[in-house]
Amino acid sequence: MDIDEFRKKGKEVVDDICDYYASLDQIPPMSQVEPGYLYKLIPHKAPTEPETFDEVKRDFQTKIMPGITHWQSGNFFAWFPSSGSFPSIIGDMYSNMLNIVGFNWICSPAVTELETIMTDWLGKLLGLEKQFLSIQNDGSEGQGGGSIQGSASEAIVVAMIAAREKKLAELPKACPELTQDDIDAIRPKLVAYYSDQTHSSGQKGANIIGCKTHMIPSDDNFRLTSDALHEAIAADKQKGLVPFFVCGSFGTTNTAAIDDLPGIAEVAKKERLWYHVDCGTTSMPHTLFRPLAAGIEFADSFDFNTHKWMLISFECSVMWVSDSTHLVNALSIEREYLPRVKGDKSFVKDYRNWRLPLGRRFCALKLWFMMRMYGVSGIQANIRQHVKEAKWLEEQLLADGRFEIMAPVHFGLVVFRIKPSAVNNNPAVSVKECVVNKANIDLVKAIHKDNRVFLVGTMIKGKNVLRAAIGSTLGTHRNTELLLEVVQQLTTRILED
Ligand SMILES: *Cc1c(COP(=O)(O)O)cnc(C)c1O
Repeated sequence: MDIDEFRKKGKEVVDDICDYYASLDQIPPMSQVEPGYLYKLIPHKAPTEPETFDEVKRDFQTKIMPGITHWQSGNFFAWFPSSGSFPSIIGDMYSNMLNIVGFNWICSPAVTELETIMTDWLGKLLGLEKQFLSIQNDGSEGQGGGSIQGSASEAIVVAMIAAREKKLAELPKACPELTQDDIDAIRPKLVAYYSDQTHSSGQKGANIIGCKTHMIPSDDNFRLTSDALHEAIAADKQKGLVPFFVCGSFGTTNTAAIDDLPGIAEVAKKERLWYHVDCGTTSMPHTLFRPLAAGIEFADSFDFNTHKWMLISFECSVMWVSDSTHLVNALSIEREYLPRVKGDKSFVKDYRNWRLPLGRRFCALKLWFMMRMYGVSGIQANIRQHVKEAKWLEEQLLADGRFEIMAPVHFGLVVFRIKPSAVNNNPAVSVKECVVNKANIDLVKAIHKDNRVFLVGTMIKGKNVLRAAIGSTLGTHRNTELLLEVVQQLTTRILED
């Protein structure tokens, strides 16, 4: 493909993208293919001779598209949204054009500098305290700052590495007689804390860095509380273990619960733990959610996924630290082929020292296009609309009488189930939990088979529930109405059976 052909076919691709977005409401959201379907459809080795764009495109449409679940559909309510936007797509197109491997400032100064400026823009948009900003109001460099990570899972690993190094560096200060061997012997005794509702990336991070973990039962509202954390730490210290890290959640995956962030901060301070806040789920332009996030100002690090609910195409997770020293110390490896530039460090960040991979694409570009073309008002309006839809759905489900809401609706997530009294037509006998569970599992299965809308179920404290995550950029009230209609119709059918 030469430039002339790319010019022509590239425009055709943009047309295809537009046609796809325009038709999404008419396409069943969930792919229904069987495992292994693709192996039967495409050759088992690469072609020897080149093929044309048109041939590949035909197969893309006939063979790949059937195996696609449509995350951008307004009828997609599963997991959490991957709510992209056209400005973000355009930012990514230019990023693809440049195809830069940005690890040090010198790789392309604009890549580093835009990342610094964008993470500050975003930090201010969230109402973050100044310790999280790279460049302070007077133009001086801060101790902390933001960086773009691939995902919230990557961010938690980075936070844990920084936490471990900080803890190990502190030990000889408290106990000068410790030798290096003593300190190495402490490594396997380090413990990280999280709740039974913390995202799986907490455990995965611990597996990767090789530390112990303590999973703490959440309270009745699915929150990690400071008392439970305190107890867990005391028990571990009794056993000679060394607590070093705690993960608080602002919006858990199951129910979007908010942990006792200020209470955890107090314990973390007293016990000298690194405090990471995982906001994977949420977006929080500050006028909307900042009050709910009280306590986040005490975090050592926190991360939120712009690629979930903030109009940015996958992938782009932004992590802030209040002090980058331990992060950079732990992750900076100097080699002659990785030249550094001398200068005002606030403009010469080497982001390879803030994350796991050396290179990363130019993700700040999509943040720039999106934030400029939506403006703060547009970003907030988008989120406000989703929260309104979620509240509406909650009201309708309650008004129906057959459903119960299983967790407070703060954001765009509505967790509900068919309630026990609706399953049981004889109020004199109480219905077994397994019967209620079965009705709710059947409802999820029926929704998947029906395939007008797509959502997934989960289990919380032994109860099977359904999760409707509202947040599609293209979603309108009509999509939420359809979701309600499908849930009501299929519930009627299940209860009749
Ligand atoms: C989705 C999610 C994550 C992980 O997401 P990545 O795909 O790793 O970015 C982490 N925490 C929470 C609360 C999430 O909902």
